Amino acid sequence: MGERISIFDIFKIGIGPSSSHTMGPWKAALDFGQRLVDGQQMAELNSVDVWLYGSLAKTGKGHGTDMAVVLGLTGRQPESVPVEDVIPVFEDVEGSGKLDLMSVKTIDFNTETNIHFLYDQMLPYHANALTFVAHFNGEHSMAKTYYSLGGGFVLCEGEDQQKSHGFEMPYPIDTGEDLKKWCTQLNASISEVVIQNERALRDEHEIKEKMLELWQVMKTCIFESCKKSGSLPGGLDVQRRAFEMAEKLMPGQKDIHNTDEWMACIKNQAHTFSTTLKWLSCFALAVNEENANYGRIVTAPTNGAAGVIPAVLMYHLLFSPEAKDDDIFTFLFVAGEMGSLFKKGATISAAMGGCQAEIGVSSAMAAAALTECLGGSSEQAMMAAEIAMEHHLGMTCDPIGGLVQIPCIERNTMGAIKAVTASQIALESDPAKAKVTLDGVIRTMKQTADDMHHKYKETSDGGLAIHIPVNIVEC
Ligand code: SF4
Repeated sequence: MGERISIFDIFKIGIGPSSSHTMGPWKAALDFGQRLVDGQQMAELNSVDVWLYGSLAKTGKGHGTDMAVVLGLTGRQPESVPVEDVIPVFEDVEGSGKLDLMSVKTIDFNTETNIHFLYDQMLPYHANALTFVAHFNGEHSMAKTYYSLGGGFVLCEGEDQQKSHGFEMPYPIDTGEDLKKWCTQLNASISEVVIQNERALRDEHEIKEKMLELWQVMKTCIFESCKKSGSLPGGLDVQRRAFEMAEKLMPGQKDIHNTDEWMACIKNQAHTFSTTLKWLSCFALAVNEENANYGRIVTAPTNGAAGVIPAVLMYHLLFSPEAKDDDIFTFLFVAGEMGSLFKKGATISAAMGGCQAEIGVSSAMAAAALTECLGGSSEQAMMAAEIAMEHHLGMTCDPIGGLVQIPCIERNTMGAIKAVTASQIALESDPAKAKVTLDGVIRTMKQTADDMHHKYKETSDGGLAIHIPVNIVEC
């Protein structure tokens, strides 16, 4: 049986700026802390060390990996921690040298000496690895190594990933061909097949409630971010642009205090091709500015690419004449299934496959989802995903200063626009005549990922990260 992934594994509420470097290590720290609690060894515990390898070491500072492991070790959950607490909690540990481990025991913890960045060491299984070591009285210790696989997925070394994803689904899907087969056999759309699989885990009411919660976080993120100006943290002095763009498009938008009212005002404006494109870009910029600001976002399928799905869904709801409220479910079902296919057949980790694995996948997810919402067939939706990915193949990950800002924030606008274009092309095409299949492009992406030089896999050792001179101001 292949890996079974729920759409709620693909879409997760969390904190920026990175799913692999923030969310994954955070979850690993939570797991390690819980093992210490469950092992009833807290009374004997003296200290904890964290060792970061490979990409987690090279871009960990800019991606907030140190902050994430500290927050995780305190027992705070990424989906529920108040956003405004994130930096102060880390700064408190940094300043006091004390960490309240899982709210059970306060230990000495120096963020400079207990977190080790091993810039030149890589573990063989995955580029994103981290090891926690707990030291007890009497020189006894306990160590666990985790791999952050991208999209917030975490694997503890020696344990079976199927442990958390081993549930049976009535219509198992590992490839585009499987999905096509079920759509044909059941005479169903992609979203209809997906909801039947999701019912293996929870009832339809709960599924829809959880989806509305995801959309609530997505649209709130766009709305709130369009009210914030100034520069982003990290020392690059990158200025937020969504606010100014939104103000130019709809002067006074900052004074609207209700998300749905704000959306209704945008919808009721007269739009040209240019203003529609600008709003689409503005939505994507807004999400990823918030992501760079350690804000609350939905991983989709990663944090660096979190802007594409909300931007294209918002675009559809506001600008497609045929859009209806239920399209929120259709869109997220289809997008989630596409993300699963790429995770199973290739990767959604930039440390393994560059930016094609993040923005490329999110664009493919959005393209398929938009196509089904616009009345396309399941084959046309898969064709849209294929087209979107085909034109992201080989895209490298080279974030300047190790921060998820340049090129990441703008790149989400490009992923969103390509998704819309891919969808429009697919809707006008006969998939039976397509030369490249979805499975074909997934295989190609995997091979391209394997061939890609490590400089371009979230290490900040190549590309824009080394060729653009920048002055990073230490804050
Ligand atoms: S360049 Fe792409 S893959 Fe790399 S951190 Fe930025 S958004 Fe993520």
